[in-house]
Amino acid sequence: MKIIVPVKRVIDYNVKPRVKADGTGVDLANVKMSMNPFDEIAVEEALRLKEKGAATEVVVVSIGPAKAQETLRTALAMGADRAILIEAEDVEPLGVAKLLAKVQEEELAGLIILGKQAIDNDCNQTGQMLAALLGRPQGTFASKVEVEGDSVSVTREVDGGLETVKLTLPAIVTTDLRLNEPRYASLPNIMKAKSKPLAQKTPADYGVDISPRLETLKVVEPPVRQAGIRVADVDELVAKLKAMGVAA
Ligand code: AMP
Repeated sequence: MKIIVPVKRVIDYNVKPRVKADGTGVDLANVKMSMNPFDEIAVEEALRLKEKGAATEVVVVSIGPAKAQETLRTALAMGADRAILIEAEDVEPLGVAKLLAKVQEEELAGLIILGKQAIDNDCNQTGQMLAALLGRPQGTFASKVEVEGDSVSVTREVDGGLETVKLTLPAIVTTDLRLNEPRYASLPNIMKAKSKPLAQKTPADYGVDISPRLETLKVVEPPVRQAGIRVADVDELVAKLKAMGVAA
């Protein structure tokens, strides 16, 4: 069984994003970029399934600028077998899902494991849209994934606790934070990754229209947090809260 893992190049999670002066978006100039953390978890899970014998090949796919090759090489260094870069900038989740559906038509993977969300746009849409486009079952927010024959059991983190669903393969899974702890790529594996296959494509190769459907009106910095004050005791705290009108 083949596993496809879509990986997105995003601003590194340690970087504090800066909004462009004209409010049209986030400034990406000279900013450290990395693989979306939920996608690292997805790559790790695919590799573990391969190591357990449940999968034979892990294919990573990124839709992004030429530099997304670095993200794909990171996934190859972790242990993925080959990569596909579909070169395009700022593709919305529906466009990404349409491209991934075309990749799946060619690859016929048993599982597609995505991150639950990209930390740059927090959309949390691509996996769900892909499942709908392919007409296949989905297990989102996975904290445990077990392949058994022609099905996969996915334990999901829901509000009230954990829910386990069984999906017939091919299926779509999206990863939550607690699924696993991704491995670091070793230096020899980073070297080896340089010679692993990386195919370069464009949306036109798949006949997919990725023109945007959304218009960003403006992007603003979050409000600056006001400094706190120290109170001597609970009585003073309650008095202050009453004065602010937030306690009766
Ligand atoms: P989103 O719906 O944008 O929050 O993204 C959810 C997941 O879809 C991500 O964690 C990735 O696995 C995948 N994904 C989204 N955008 C891309 C992209 N441009 N290239 C590859 N995978 C992507």
